Amino acid sequence: MDMCDVCKKNEANITLTNNDDSQEIICRNCFNDRISEEVGVELESQPQEISVYDVNGIRRDFKVEQRIFPNGIFIEATENIQYGYSFAVHGDLGCNQTELFQQLVDKVKLGISIQYTKVGTFANGQKYHSIVNDHVVGLIDYDERSESCPMVVIDGKPYTWEQLGKMAMSYEGFQFQLKFFDKTEDVE
Ligand SMILES: [Zn+2]
Repeated sequence: MDMCDVCKKNEANITLTNNDDSQEIICRNCFNDRISEEVGVELESQPQEISVYDVNGIRRDFKVEQRIFPNGIFIEATENIQYGYSFAVHGDLGCNQTELFQQLVDKVKLGISIQYTKVGTFANGQKYHSIVNDHVVGLIDYDERSESCPMVVIDGKPYTWEQLGKMAMSYEGFQFQLKFFDKTEDVE
């Protein structure tokens, strides 16, 4: 694990190339501090965790990360499991940061209140997944086990592209629409 060149206490995960081509590896906090200074906007302190109950009454815990860039403030809530839910919002530099955080909380609550897949059981006892209401919203994530396909995260659960394909088999003969959205956009 590389330590931050600036604070020497956090894990460094950003490589910064300066104007003179020198490179630094720094942590998220120090990166935010640097941008804050550049743009003259302070990041306000916000809760670092959100816990919400999903549609099945299961508690989902999210880690919250704030980032500031010259084009605005970005807050992301990522579930603390691999291939879980993840939501993000974006506001401009002058936005009300408390409202932006609340927008994120609302987005998390709404996002986990809708279920797009359900599990059924065949007569022989075998389980199968199917799509509810002909509509799926999810996240494209990296699948370290596959070089040819990404992982698809739906309902805070990972599905392989093939599993998604299987769920689509009941739609043979239908049209479909495949459209990608930035994580900060709202998907209906
Ligand atoms: Zn640091």
